[in-house]
Amino acid sequence: MTVTTSYQGQIAVVSIDNPPVNALSKHLRHDLLDAVIRLDAEPAVEAVVLACEGRTFIAGADVNEFGKPPEAPHLPDVVASIEHAKKPWVAAIHGNALGGGLEIALGCSYRLAAPKTNFGLPEVKLGIIPGAGGTVRLPRLIGVEAAVDLATSGAVIGTDKARVLGLIDTVVEGDLREGAVSYAQSIVGLPKPPPLSLRSAPQKDGDFWGQAESTVRSKSKGEIAPSKALASIRNATEVDFHAAMAFERSTFLDLRASKQAAALRHVFFAERAAPRPPELNGVPALEIRSAAVVGGGTMGAGIIAALRNAGLPVILIERDEEAAERGLSNVRAIFDGLVKRSRLTAELAADRLAGVQTSTDYDTLKDVDLVIEAVFEDLVVKQAVFKSLSEACSAEALLATNTSYLDPNQIGAHVENPERFLGLHFFSPANVMKLLEIVPTSVTSPEAVARGIALARLLGKIPIRAGVCDGFIGNRLLKVTRAQAERLLLAGATPSAVDAAMRQFGMPMGPFEAQDLGGLDIAAFQRKAARTRGEAVFAPIADRLCEIGRLGQKTSGGWYDYAPGDRKPLPSDVVAGIISSEAGDRPSFPWDGETIAEAIIFPMISEGAAILDERIALCAADIDLVEIHGYGFPRWRGGLMHYGLEVGLTNVVERLKDLSSQGLAPTPSRGLVEAVVSGSFGG
Ligand code: NAD
Repeated sequence: MTVTTSYQGQIAVVSIDNPPVNALSKHLRHDLLDAVIRLDAEPAVEAVVLACEGRTFIAGADVNEFGKPPEAPHLPDVVASIEHAKKPWVAAIHGNALGGGLEIALGCSYRLAAPKTNFGLPEVKLGIIPGAGGTVRLPRLIGVEAAVDLATSGAVIGTDKARVLGLIDTVVEGDLREGAVSYAQSIVGLPKPPPLSLRSAPQKDGDFWGQAESTVRSKSKGEIAPSKALASIRNATEVDFHAAMAFERSTFLDLRASKQAAALRHVFFAERAAPRPPELNGVPALEIRSAAVVGGGTMGAGIIAALRNAGLPVILIERDEEAAERGLSNVRAIFDGLVKRSRLTAELAADRLAGVQTSTDYDTLKDVDLVIEAVFEDLVVKQAVFKSLSEACSAEALLATNTSYLDPNQIGAHVENPERFLGLHFFSPANVMKLLEIVPTSVTSPEAVARGIALARLLGKIPIRAGVCDGFIGNRLLKVTRAQAERLLLAGATPSAVDAAMRQFGMPMGPFEAQDLGGLDIAAFQRKAARTRGEAVFAPIADRLCEIGRLGQKTSGGWYDYAPGDRKPLPSDVVAGIISSEAGDRPSFPWDGETIAEAIIFPMISEGAAILDERIALCAADIDLVEIHGYGFPRWRGGLMHYGLEVGLTNVVERLKDLSSQGLAPTPSRGLVEAVVSGSFGG
């Protein structure tokens, strides 16, 4: 039974038990509807408490029903039946009341909550809008502005804010169920409050809606659902309740069948799967209770902040006292920044910093469970670090390198017990970016991989396993992005047109502005290393810019010019001159936003297919997550490979053949050509 009823005098307690999160499955909807009908027919019952077993109230829809045709009983009918029950229903909410869970609560006459409860309408994050009255009842309860904020952003609010907004009637400090029963007893004999469906909707003028629409559009960058949620709320203030419900439901059903919703569901399931690879099921992962980081530069400091945020004590090892002090101040700067932006209290920041011990002595590491190396990108320096670590650390310690481009097999070549060594490739800023590439060497044990994945979970990151190659998954694709961007410049496009096209596609930044922000020197260093290895690298214009010291914003010029103290990119005559001298008499093409985006994204899809073909990535969804969480690829497009399937792999190949015949892209990879034949990327 998912729903049981018990009685305390005149109060019936309807208890939901549908582990793990009391999701609104078909059975639960059915049982709830049943409970309403049954309790309405019991004359001794004066009021009903709706409570949930386990760690949460109804946390939302059942993920097993995502994307499938809706089945009766439908949620709007369940909510309406609770709302129109003869007895008042009191929702006793703890944990999460999200999506359909919140909509059920809105159907109740009263809402009580435990402290630290989360409320929200996260539907837009799955490309849909609430479908059971969320956009219709919520503005009637908490006003239009607050309802717009919640429904268009998918944001979650806590009990305190919910109380201030009037979303809940009372906070219950002690035992929630007991508190709810006493509350229900206190309302016996009072008239049942009018349901939200009978309340009039607040009104707003056209200016308000115009402003709200432009704010939502600029935040949602190509995502449809937030604007649709806004339109549904607007409609709910302009037509009667039943018409508003019908409009909301039809919008919900349309969106549910949309490409964006399919893409967002794909990402949702990929994110759920990534931290729990089935082939590592049952492989033990020793607990990580303490950590050390070697090198306190940009990456080391960010990694330390991430480890401290997860509560691990950290030792920072640096070359000398002065560097250790500098490393610690890098960490301090991260926490200070968080305090300044009100993301962390000063006390917590002090506590996190106090948990970092600095040292130049490897003997301090004999008891740590994990060491992450983040020193200069130099094989000899890294090998020396791991020699010292091998000697100093216990044989069980997990040893990891954060190398971007070097071969972890070589870095760990002299590590004792090399099965506990692997690459853990963080992305910058390491305390913010969710992606963690996990790079086993040829001898890394499954236990060490499982431990790396457990670490990612502890840090709240998404672990993606990558094989060894230049750049692993993410940076290997980035090289293609950049090479294509330069090819376009040689064929008549400008840096600003390319950047604008990629932003229009949904990327947070274009490839040239991104290089100017991060500095052109990092990639230059890596190109030099690749050329030393005898590999061909295509970056004719970036090479010239580096030669003349145009390294980006930090030198007041890179792909763009910058006025002193200003980050606004200005087209540069110097860069235009270099482009035209490199282009020589090559033909120019009439690029527009769409053709630019295709000429960059399609070769990336082809490279992604090669990465799969070589087993550098284990499945296409992993590449999708790398692009989304490492580089800001638009989530609503489902990631790089999902987008390729959406566009049609045959179209991708045909366009690539066309581009490559004009020298504007490499030929389609074998992996891509094979995927066209099989119709999927496999894996
Ligand atoms: P960085 O130059 O900012 O920092 C390197 C730090 O290592 C310095 O503080 C230096 O004093 C210290 N160091 C050097 N040799 C040492 C030694 N023998 N013992 C102890 N400390 C030593 O470099 P970074 O950008 O933080 O990069 C570090 C590593 O992370 C590199 O392998 C890099 O490829 C990789 N990485 C960088 C990024 C990025 O965006 N910067 C992203 C992912 C990975």
